[in-house]
Amino acid sequence: MSPASAWPWDRCQVCVSVAEADLDAVAARLVGLRGADLIEVRLDALDESAGLDPARLAELSAGSPVPIGFTLRPEWEGGGYRGDEPARRRLLAAAAASGAAFIDIELDAEWAAELLGSSPCPVIVSHHFDRPRPDDLQRRVEQLLRLRPSLAKLVAPAERPADALPLLAAARRLIAEGQPATCFCMGEAGRASRLIAIGQGAGLVYAAAEAGREVAAGQWPLAELTDRLRVRGWPRDAGLCGLIGHPIDHSLSPAIFNAVFQERGRGLAYLPLPGAELTPAIDLVEAVGFLGLSVTMPFKEQMAGRCAELDALATATDAVNTVVARPGGGWAGFNTDGVAVVEALAARRQIDGATIAIVGAGGAGRAAAAALAAAGGEVTVLNRTAARAAEVAELAGATAGPIETLRERRFDVIINATPVGMQAAGAGGPRPGAPRGAEAGGERVAEQGETPFPTSWLAGSEVVFDMVYRPRITPLLAAAAARGCPTIEGLEMFVRQAAVQYGLFTGEPTDRPLVSLRATALRILEDDR
Ligand code: NAP
Repeated sequence: MSPASAWPWDRCQVCVSVAEADLDAVAARLVGLRGADLIEVRLDALDESAGLDPARLAELSAGSPVPIGFTLRPEWEGGGYRGDEPARRRLLAAAAASGAAFIDIELDAEWAAELLGSSPCPVIVSHHFDRPRPDDLQRRVEQLLRLRPSLAKLVAPAERPADALPLLAAARRLIAEGQPATCFCMGEAGRASRLIAIGQGAGLVYAAAEAGREVAAGQWPLAELTDRLRVRGWPRDAGLCGLIGHPIDHSLSPAIFNAVFQERGRGLAYLPLPGAELTPAIDLVEAVGFLGLSVTMPFKEQMAGRCAELDALATATDAVNTVVARPGGGWAGFNTDGVAVVEALAARRQIDGATIAIVGAGGAGRAAAAALAAAGGEVTVLNRTAARAAEVAELAGATAGPIETLRERRFDVIINATPVGMQAAGAGGPRPGAPRGAEAGGERVAEQGETPFPTSWLAGSEVVFDMVYRPRITPLLAAAAARGCPTIEGLEMFVRQAAVQYGLFTGEPTDRPLVSLRATALRILEDDR
């Protein structure tokens, strides 16, 4: 490798891949990619890649708002280039001399060492395995360590998230030996590995310009990496925390945790771990050694069953929303929703002796009922399905009834613990909690996307607390405020449960991050409008 081709970047470069059929289309796409660190142009995606005029590459590099690199992947390595090897080598040499930020060549190209030695720009040397857990991985690592490219890249498909473990181990070895590297898995099952690789100190991560424009399966969108996950602030060898659940695409947690970890210099990164099944995700998380996880629907109960110990509320509710790795192995499970609901209400009024109606008897209603009853509240659980209300009431030492109870009886506090009123992120998204058409004396109990009970039943003096936090001001909160009721937003509960999680992940007192958690959440919710 020539000195000019040393990998010049210390932190992980966010590189957007662009694949278009002609260079004019490539040039048009570059304009919108200012937020990237690098752009990779897949020359093999061009209709005319074999007859390409190298002068056009210099024009493209000069006109790009972001440093640009070139890849000309041959068919024999899974790319689209069909020309001969000498022509490919000439074109890549011309690309390297065009002012490019890097070129990407294959470990199996016969002339790889020669081009690496003469290149005026950094050279990524890649190998793409064609099956998960390849048996020649170690041989490839040794080859790369002998060759010493600017950046070593190993990629394999994944069928399960844990298929990435050998590649992640290969990356650790390369990096430990002073070789800049990026090793990850492709496909849906490989998405988490791309993020774990960044946390391990990868030199580069590939991104899609936006969702739906992925050049390879499993790429994260640019804005997701830079704005929501803030990967540029992840330290090398970051301690890893994450979020498991399904779906988690619109969760606020990755944005707020990464913001507060960085603001407070914790050396931690927080990764969304997508997947519809718990076991494959946990296999990966345990093998990589995550410090802790937030756990959301539908895994709260299943994850509780995997914990070696549970706190009092997790035991009572048989559900966890947080787990922390125990020093001796296994997970300690917690339910931070209960303390959050108590704190959010206590900030507004006394709980001891207050009559509190909780509408909804799912996981959140269950945690609220148990925690508020333990804090001295006189709790009544009201639910669409009577048997569930009775079950939660029994566990919390509360009473149960139908939602229509609210028409007859006054409470000091009414808490909505159903998803009614929730708006999926993004305009026009589906509203969960669609009604089953329950009727209450001619009035609908729950109109889709509206309120969990008719707001004409409110007296105007009760505190109305909606656990739904997206949108911030739900139809229930708006109607309650219009009737003169004091209101509590779901956001107050959300940031408090996140602050308790933060304390469990870091050991830091939970009052300190609350202000930044709230500020970041507010910023994101403002952007929703
Ligand atoms: P869940 O386990 O699915 O329970 C949902 C509950 O809502 C069930 O009791 C269900 O009644 C009831 N329900 C659903 N649709 C309804 C409708 N159209 N009309 C009347 N009742 C309806 O959900 P969860 O985990 O408890 O969460 C509930 C809500 O709280 C969600 O919106 C969640 O985002 C929110 N939450 C917020 C925070 C926070 O920090 N702010 C924390 C946790 C949860 P059935 O039993 O009859 O099906």
